[in-house]
Amino acid sequence: MRRPMVAGNWKMHGSREENARLVAGVIDGVNGCVAEVLVFPPAVYVAEVAHLAAGSPVGVGGQTLCTQAVGAYTGEISAAMLRDVGATHVLVGHSERRAMYGETDAVVAEKFIAAQAGGLIPVLCVGETLEEREAGITEAVVARQLEAVVAAAGIAAFAQAVVAYEPVWAIGTGRTASPEQAQAVHGFIRGYFAAKDATLADHLRVLYGGSVKASNAAELFGMADVDGGLVGGASLKADEFVRICVAAR
Ligand code: PEP
Repeated sequence: MRRPMVAGNWKMHGSREENARLVAGVIDGVNGCVAEVLVFPPAVYVAEVAHLAAGSPVGVGGQTLCTQAVGAYTGEISAAMLRDVGATHVLVGHSERRAMYGETDAVVAEKFIAAQAGGLIPVLCVGETLEEREAGITEAVVARQLEAVVAAAGIAAFAQAVVAYEPVWAIGTGRTASPEQAQAVHGFIRGYFAAKDATLADHLRVLYGGSVKASNAAELFGMADVDGGLVGGASLKADEFVRICVAAR
C-alpha cells in the first residue's frame, strides 16, 4: 500500500510573515490526514519554515539544489545545506527549471544523485509540453526524462525517491489533465519501472502536478496510479491546500 503524498511548491512566493501564517494554517488543517504533507518554500525560507513545522506532520523540502556538494559555486545551495536546516526532500527537474534555467536531462540526473548523496529524497519532475503531447510523443518524452536518471543513478535509487508527472501545459494554466489523461501517463510510468523492478514500481509514489485544486483533487487522486499531488498555486492558500491534502486517501 502506498501512502499518498501532497507537496506544495510555493515557487518564488512568500515573506516571513506570510509563510508563518500559511504553514500554521496547513499544520492546523492536516492533523490526522492520511497523506504525507510537505511544503517547498523558497530557499531562503526553508530553515525558518522547517523550524515552524518541527514536530508537526508537515515536512519541508527545497525547490532545487546544486549538482555539487561543496566549493566555489557562488549562489548555489547544496543538498547537505538543505538537509542541515531541516529539509527532507527536494524538487529535481521541475519544468520551470528545465525551461528557464537550462536544466538538461543530464543536469537533472546529476541533481538527483547529489540530492541522495546529501541525504535528501528527490522528487523527480517529468512531463511533456503541449507541442510534444500534440505530436503524440508524451510517453517517449517521459521515458527519455526517466531513463536519463535511471541510467545515471541506477534503478535501486528510486526506492528512495518520488516521481511527479507534471504535464507542462497544465502547470499554472488552470488547464488540468483529466483524471483519465493523468492515469494513462501514471500507468505508463509505473509500467516503465515495473519492467525493471516490479516490487520497486509497486512502492514508488507517482504524484500528479498541474493546476490541482480542491475542486479536482479527489477525482485525480482517485485514479489507480495517482499517489497524490504536487501543487503550485493552490498551495499558497492554507484552506485550499488542506482540502487537497484531505482529498488524498
Ligand atoms: C507546480 O508548480 O509544480 C505546479 C503544478 O503548479 P500549479 O499547481 O500552479 O499548476
